[in-house]
Order: sequence, then structure tokens, then C-alpha cells
Amino acid sequence: MSVVVRFPPSPTGFLHIGSARTALFNWLYAKHTGGTFLLRVEDTDRERSTPESVATILEGMQWLGFDWDNTTDPKNNGKTYYSQFEHRERHAEVARQMVANGTAYYCYASTQELDAMRAEQKAKGLPQRYDGRWRDRPASEAPADVKPVVRLKAPLTGETVVDDKVMGRITVQNSQLDDMVLLRGDGTPTYMLAVVVDDHDMGVTHVIRGDDHMTNTFRQVQIYRAMGWDVPVYAHLPMILGPDGAKLSKRHGAPAVSDYRDKGYLPEAIRNYLLRLCWSHGDDELISTEQAVAWFDFDGIGKSPARFDFVKLAHVNAHYIGLADNERLADLAAPFLKEALGRDLTAAERDVLIRALPDIKPRVQTVREIAEATLFYFHRLPLHEKAQKLLTPEAKAHLRDLAERLKALPDFTAEAIEGAFRAYAEEKALKLGGVAQPLRAALTGSNVSPPIFTAAALLGRAEVLGRVQAVVEG
Ligand code: GLU
Repeated sequence: MSVVVRFPPSPTGFLHIGSARTALFNWLYAKHTGGTFLLRVEDTDRERSTPESVATILEGMQWLGFDWDNTTDPKNNGKTYYSQFEHRERHAEVARQMVANGTAYYCYASTQELDAMRAEQKAKGLPQRYDGRWRDRPASEAPADVKPVVRLKAPLTGETVVDDKVMGRITVQNSQLDDMVLLRGDGTPTYMLAVVVDDHDMGVTHVIRGDDHMTNTFRQVQIYRAMGWDVPVYAHLPMILGPDGAKLSKRHGAPAVSDYRDKGYLPEAIRNYLLRLCWSHGDDELISTEQAVAWFDFDGIGKSPARFDFVKLAHVNAHYIGLADNERLADLAAPFLKEALGRDLTAAERDVLIRALPDIKPRVQTVREIAEATLFYFHRLPLHEKAQKLLTPEAKAHLRDLAERLKALPDFTAEAIEGAFRAYAEEKALKLGGVAQPLRAALTGSNVSPPIFTAAALLGRAEVLGRVQAVVEG
């Protein structure tokens, strides 16, 4: 049997980082088994669903590299994702079929009546559940002016069991579950019905989702049984908590996948980090996507909630920055530099950036930091206080002398510049740092920077002499 998994976001906002974890696990499982990964947009809530949100979610999925395998959906204007709303007729049809089969029934109870029922249950200290008042009532008793809902005729005795791939065997007494609504009075399906019908129609074999859906699962299993459909395999993933142990939310910052892109994280780092958050393979921390695809299984998923650790994520990102191609990093850093400079990089500047990257990569954790660390190449930065301190009258005098030697260098290479500085330091019985640090201050405005002679060579002779002159005279 070929595996079919799905990722079904509700398009009511951005793509949450926790949802990205669910998408990742489904995607990996499909890749690992050579199965199919389907995207379903759960857009039945017409008030809260927006096309902008759909666009943001698709963009987030693409950025993360989670390619989905849907073919074009004729019911969804030929788009390559499944729209739950567009299949609403089918949901209603299944509800009617269930009524015909005797596994569901029309309930004509009014809202007031149900409110009164619940109030009475509450007063008696009983759990508030639909009491099945229309379960066995003949249609002849139906009031003419009420549009009925369709309810599942759920089993009253016995138990519903889920053998979850992560959480193990979980059992609920059927007496705990009431006859849920499948179709509302206005003919629209409830989430519970729509999910089951869609999963069945899409051929979903494995449902991998957050364990906040566990209680829904029992109800959904009852719908499968009522329809005589095969129940999928379930794997419920533990919650993701914030660093403080509370459920991960906006409060912890960076809730959206796009926040991570905007902070300069790489998608492969996010994939690695989210995988390790809830899944393990021995002591491996750095797991490439190729390895993840090869190794992924349900056994490695932990049962307990995971805590999001921004520091660890930054370490993982630094690792992938180290591995990334320089041209790609330059393209990723370009928008951040544009933001700082107020203009695009020229082709020559892009080239400088690419050549600067081997020195920059080991020093940064994010693409944003690449931009911060290379900004000085493209813009003369004001002197930081610590850089000011390095530029003593003595240091300035040395720089003035050194400028003359730099002017005379036949080739303005890192080696030649370093050679000139070393020779000068030796002549004056100075440490190399005694002249290299003032140069750093003059060129970068800071007391920390990538190796300064390479940086000077990249800046070019005219720019170096200009910057040195500016501080010497300043
Ligand atoms: N649309 C649901 C959500 O975003 C997912 C439903 C499911 O996984 O079955 O939480």
C-alpha cells in the first residue's frame, strides 16, 4: 500500500512555525516511503479564511521546500491544492448517505432547547452532552419550520480505540462521546465531517498531526466506522512549547515561518531544527534533509512536549550557513543590505560580497548577520566608541606612514598589505596588532571585523586610502 499523507492548514493567518513542524513530518514520511504528500486548504470557515492567507501559506511551504504532490483540482479552478470548501457538496452528500444508512439522523432541536438541556445538565453536575433526543424519533414528529442538523448515531456502548504510532494505544468509552453534528442546519459540513470525507476521498493512509487533535480523532474514527471506510493510521505529535514551557505562541516572538526567513534563517536549518525538536536519531544533532528522508520513522518521535530553543536554532543555522554556497548567500543577503543601504548592490559590490563570504561565514549565525558584518564594504560606517579609542594620535601617525607604503605597493593583495604592515611593525618594534587594529578601526568603524588585510584588499586601494585619510585627518 502506497503511503498518502496530507497537510491541511486553515487559511486564517500566517503559516505557524508549529504547523511547519507538522508539514515537515508529513513531507518527510512521504519522501521516506516514496509516498504522496498532499496539501489541503481547510477553507470552510468563510469568514476567517482569506486568499492572502492561502498565498502566505503556499509561500511558506515553498520556502521550506515542502513540495506537494497534488494534481490540479478541477473543483478548485484547476489549482494544485485541494480546497475543502469546494468539496462541500460531497460532504453534504456523505451526511445524507449516512442518514439513509441509519448511521446518522436529523435533529430538529432548537438552539434554545439545547441551551436549556445543557443548563439542566450543568445544574445537576452532569457532563454537558447532547442527550440523543432525536436519535430514535420518527420523522413524522419533525417540526415543519426547523431546518435540521444531521447528527452521527454514535455507538452508545463499547469503546473506540486508537493505536497511535506515537502515543500508543488510547481508548475512550463511547458513552463519553455524544452524537456530534455532521451537517449544520444551513447544509454546511462541520470540520469533523469534512476532514474525514476529504481524507477518505484523497486516499489518505496516515494522519500525522498535533496531539491537540487527539480528542477529534475518536470522533473521526466513529465517522469512518459509520461509513465502513478504512481508518487511517494515526501519529499524533507532541506539542511545541516556548522556552518558558508555555504553549508556543506569538508571545515568544517569531510565530510565523516568514519571521524566520526575515531574520535570516535558512530553510534547511529550520527543517533540521524542527525535526530534532521532536525526533531523534541517536545523538545526531545536525541532520541534513537527505539523511532525514533516509532515516525518518515514527519510532524516533518523542512523546513529551518539546521546548523551542532559539539559541540552538541559531547554532544549527550557523552550521548551514557554513555549508551554503556563497553565490546563494550573497543573493539572500542582498535584500538585507538593500534595507541598510537604501539601494541595490552593484554587480561589482556583489562580487566583493561573494569574495568576502569565506571570512564572514564562520563569524555569523544568520543571513541578516552576514549583511551586518559586510555593510562596511559598501558604506563608510561611523566610528564606534571602541574604534575611536584605537585611533590614538600615535596610531594615526603610523597609519599616515603606512598609507604611503600602501600607495607604493605594486599589487594591492591581502598578502602584500599584510607584508607591508608586518615590515613596518618590525621596524618600529611594534606588535602587528598595534598597527592592524587602527587599520581595522579606520576601515570598518569597529574594533571587530573579518581578517582585516583580506578586507582591505577587497575594499581596494583607493577606498582604503580614502578611509585612512579620513580618520587620520579627522
Ligand atoms: N485544519 C486543521 C488545523 O489547522 C488540521 C486538521 C487535521 O489535521 O486534521 O488545525
